Amino acid sequence: MKKKHDYEKLIIKYLCETVPLQKHKVLWRFVSNLKDYGSCTAPNKGVITISVDSKQQEMIDTIIHEYAHAIDFDRNGCGKEHHSEEWGKCYAEVYRAYLDLIHKNKEERKRNHGR
Ligand SMILES: [Zn+2]
Repeated sequence: MKKKHDYEKLIIKYLCETVPLQKHKVLWRFVSNLKDYGSCTAPNKGVITISVDSKQQEMIDTIIHEYAHAIDFDRNGCGKEHHSEEWGKCYAEVYRAYLDLIHKNKEERKRNHGR
């Protein structure tokens, strides 16, 4: 049986391995009935909450966005601005890792079909 949010969890695992946190740990929560798509909260941006009521692509976008906050905090500490230039750099890095994963999956599917 296919478990709930397997794909999203796979993306999280890949992102955490490819762009790892050095000083902190993050706990991921999948929650329903959130007002928002998700959040990355104190203390130390240690809890990332993702709304399960969103569409899959929205969940993935939120995962990337919130993980960039965790990376930003891990590297730069608590800045004044929420979406600072530093955060943007972290976001770009996390997004690239995500694109790499998509690309790898595509290549693999192509290879498997070729046989
Ligand atoms: Zn944000």
